[in-house]
Amino acid sequence: MFIDTHAHLNSKEYNNDLDDTIKRAVDSGVEFIIVPGTDIESSRRAIELAENYEIIYAAVGFHPHDAHKADPEALNIIEKLSRHPKVVAIGEVGLDYHYNFSPQDVQKYVFKRQIEIAQRLNLPVIIHQREAEKDTLQIVRDKVLENPLWRQDGSNAMNRFPSPRGVFHSFSGDSATAWEVIKLGFYISFPGMVTFKPRKDSINNSHKILEKVSIEHILLETDSPYLTPEPFRGKRNEPAYLKYIAEKIAEVQDLSVEDIGRTSNLGAYKLFGIGKYPEPTYVYKIRNSLYLNITIRCNADCWFCDRKGEALVKGYNLKIKEEPTPEEIIKAIEDPKKYDEIVFCGYGEPTIRLDVIKQVGNWIKQNGGKVRLNTDGHGSLINHRNIVPELVGIVDSVSISLNSIDPEQYGKMMHLDPEKYFNAMIEFAKESVKYIGDVTMTIVDLTGADEIKAKKFVENEIGAKFKNRPYF
Ligand code: SF4
Ligand SMILES: [Zn+2]
Repeated sequence: MFIDTHAHLNSKEYNNDLDDTIKRAVDSGVEFIIVPGTDIESSRRAIELAENYEIIYAAVGFHPHDAHKADPEALNIIEKLSRHPKVVAIGEVGLDYHYNFSPQDVQKYVFKRQIEIAQRLNLPVIIHQREAEKDTLQIVRDKVLENPLWRQDGSNAMNRFPSPRGVFHSFSGDSATAWEVIKLGFYISFPGMVTFKPRKDSINNSHKILEKVSIEHILLETDSPYLTPEPFRGKRNEPAYLKYIAEKIAEVQDLSVEDIGRTSNLGAYKLFGIGKYPEPTYVYKIRNSLYLNITIRCNADCWFCDRKGEALVKGYNLKIKEEPTPEEIIKAIEDPKKYDEIVFCGYGEPTIRLDVIKQVGNWIKQNGGKVRLNTDGHGSLINHRNIVPELVGIVDSVSISLNSIDPEQYGKMMHLDPEKYFNAMIEFAKESVKYIGDVTMTIVDLTGADEIKAKKFVENEIGAKFKNRPYF
């Protein structure tokens, strides 16, 4: 199931076959559609559609092209319209210096006033930006600074990122810009261009971003009737084609289409309040691996970890209130052979429940499954003995968070005594290579760790595989 967060079904292109267009969308797995406005008339039409079709929600606002029409009276009307219960955002608003259909100073003025409307109503914004990245970012930054409580409600104080304030639709910046807008509390989305083949000798820009940015910060959109994905490029676009975009993102990110749908739906829920929030879970499937969330307790407190926040991962809610028993976990796994591997992971340190790993791991092995342990490498310290020999025959592979090869930085990242825990982790890694063999050590991109040095160290000194996990 998908959510098309941007489709101009209020445009005249759909006058003759709107019902059919919506039916095709539903048949292809689209659950909800957001129809943005570009001026008063199209905003009113978006609301009308939202009233007529349960699956449609509306956004209202002046597109930068139409900014010249946005006098104070018109902006008042937008504010009034935005109080409609099915209006979930102000949009699409922003700056477009490619066409300059409205003078740039007018565009900027109208963009700012509309962000202020969103802030007054605590609504998110849908941002359109073309060849105006610098000014757009400046305005967004200023507005967030002026009103830091916009969309923040106190319950999100522990979260890794601010509660979402909007989306940069049809994102065209580089990965540094993506990182900046994410930190400001924005999602990014890409319509059909993700499916386009890049010209010779170039890489598809959206693919470059998709290699760095987690799907947790990405929303799905078609931008219908424009930017039609392959294999329909050149024809009129419609929400039913969203699946081609989801398939392409899944391919680039090495995830399943379900992973893309589930994760981006949760993003749409968090931003627009559409759909529902997932129930906490202790088993969860990503690609064809099954992950076991046996605890959310941890001996560390990494600054980049969402454990004390919402504990969300790829559209799953891991904020379990009670830890599952081995029997409950085994029941939930059903048949270990169905999965490529079964991973002790989750938002916590699994070796805190070593007995559970052993009991469940044994059962998985006896029933033909493969077991991986994802750990911070402090298991021997936690259990006051070398636990690695006890895992032989139970665990097939181990992934250890290396985080950094500089003990000082390691300690700072995890809020732990650097020497003691760094050494314990390295010792655990060496023991794992000796007893288990298949060991991967990971660092997180963008935390400032020296990737090249870390790779050398892992391969040469420890004899393990090295992996860089994209962080954002
Ligand atoms: S070790 Fe893992 S679970 Fe624990 S705080 Fe760090 S990232 Fe979170
Ligand atoms: Zn649009």
